[in-house]
Amino acid sequence: MKIHEYQAKEIFARYGIPVPEGQMVTEVGDVKRFFEEKGGPVVVKAQIHAGGRGKGGGVKFSPTVEVAEQAAKDIMGMTLVTHQTGPEGKLVQRLLVEKAANIETEMYLGFVMDRETSRVAIIASTEGGVEIEKVAAETPEKIIKIWIDPAVGLMPFQAREVCFKLGLEGTAFKGGVKMLQNLYRMFTEEDASMAEINPMIVTKEGEAMALDAKVNFDDNAGFRQKHHAELRDISEEDPLEVEASKFDLNYIKLDGKVGCMVNGAGLAMATMDLIKQCGSEPANFLDVGGSASAEGVENAFRILMSDKDVKCVLINIFGGIVRCDKVANGVVEAIRNIGNVEVPIVVRLEGTNAKEGLEIINNSGLNFHTAQGFADAAKKAADLAEGRGGA
Ligand code: GDP
Ligand code: MN
Repeated sequence: MKIHEYQAKEIFARYGIPVPEGQMVTEVGDVKRFFEEKGGPVVVKAQIHAGGRGKGGGVKFSPTVEVAEQAAKDIMGMTLVTHQTGPEGKLVQRLLVEKAANIETEMYLGFVMDRETSRVAIIASTEGGVEIEKVAAETPEKIIKIWIDPAVGLMPFQAREVCFKLGLEGTAFKGGVKMLQNLYRMFTEEDASMAEINPMIVTKEGEAMALDAKVNFDDNAGFRQKHHAELRDISEEDPLEVEASKFDLNYIKLDGKVGCMVNGAGLAMATMDLIKQCGSEPANFLDVGGSASAEGVENAFRILMSDKDVKCVLINIFGGIVRCDKVANGVVEAIRNIGNVEVPIVVRLEGTNAKEGLEIINNSGLNFHTAQGFADAAKKAADLAEGRGGA
């Protein structure tokens, strides 16, 4: 789960990580009010769930109230395109207005889950403010990496090592060490999966500070982090994914043309692989779950069909706990309820009650393509989606 910069900074402040004084606003006029109350210069920042806003024109340093007002007008309501939003961009509906910091140096600081070592890794670099991927690719020697043993947590010597390598001195060094320790505390207590400060800065006054903040939470910890639900901004999420989450469906929108309805995450992954191998691309990941009800199947199918990119649907079910006839009924019901389903549907049913399931499909009077086995199903679906005669 992603949250906005202003929300991440509120959490930082609670954990004692220095951030600029600021305020989230949804009204352009409030930027002027902030400037007049707190004094300038200020920075006006678009709040969207994507980075790279500075380069896209979503961050504006404003020395005067007039510039701040104009920046607020320009940024609010704009469709901000950055290297992380995709070409369609994101609509800006909130701004963060902050007291501008006097930057002496910009650095990069990130905490991520390293799945290879099963540890939280600290990534840091003196090269801040720019894309860290670029630094890692072109000048890997400028990346500082340290892994944290979960049994003992972040050791003070590790925090000092990072700050030393970042070239921090005096009060900035002390502040930096504290910042790392507080960030680690936040990371573990809040079940974050990523926390990125880019740039982390040292001000001309010698204070270490988080000038940007990006935090993702691990959705699997949602059950014990109930307060995270309030931080969710549904308008930033894919509408189909929001709809799917209402029915506890694991649905992720992708770029391809073959809509996939599969039970089990492993089979869903294998299905996507096979579609790719057959020369097409999956339009989504969808795991309807091991115990999908006819209603669940119907909802899944409806969501899948409302994706305009879908040119063919592949239903790939292995009946283990779920029975194939139940799935078949759900699909047939869904198509009848939706009406006018024009895209071809390839069905592969295997396992418990596969025969009964296929009978339901064949007797439905609807236009299904049945497949013999997994590979055949993937090939048919890929061919149909790509408009190749093969199927
Ligand atoms: P991003 O482009 O989405 O990562 O947004 P950032 O919050 O990182 O802002 C982009 C850039 O704007 C930073 O790297 C800074 O150079 C600049 N910037 C942001 N806040 C301030 C500020 O308070 N003072 C000054 N001088 N520059 C700022
Ligand atoms: Mn940034």
